[in-house]
Amino acid sequence: MIEGSCHCGAVHLSVPDAPADLSSCNCSICRRIGGLWGYYRPDQVSVSDPDGRLVGYVHGDETLTTWHCGKCGCTTHWSPRDPAYERMGVNIRMFDPAVWAELPHRLVDGASW
Ligand SMILES: [Zn+2]
Repeated sequence: MIEGSCHCGAVHLSVPDAPADLSSCNCSICRRIGGLWGYYRPDQVSVSDPDGRLVGYVHGDETLTTWHCGKCGCTTHWSPRDPAYERMGVNIRMFDPAVWAELPHRLVDGASW
């Protein structure tokens, strides 16, 4: 189990282990927020937000919600709006760089989708 949090510590994330690789996407939102995504099944990810700081943002084709901490502004993860979709993205930048700095990065051309 590895754990991360937003900058202010209001939102905590935990995942079973580091992802095999990380995705850096050039779509209209990812290029702005600079997310570096590790993908997991939603049931593998624990999101703790005891003070209710998470703010969701839905855009475009409305297939997913991108979440950020309303206190410090860090984007923490995205989740599918369709509960049957078995993948979500965790912004691995919320974790200690020792966890992810050496992992391979995959460039995802989301801007072309
Ligand atoms: Zn925060």
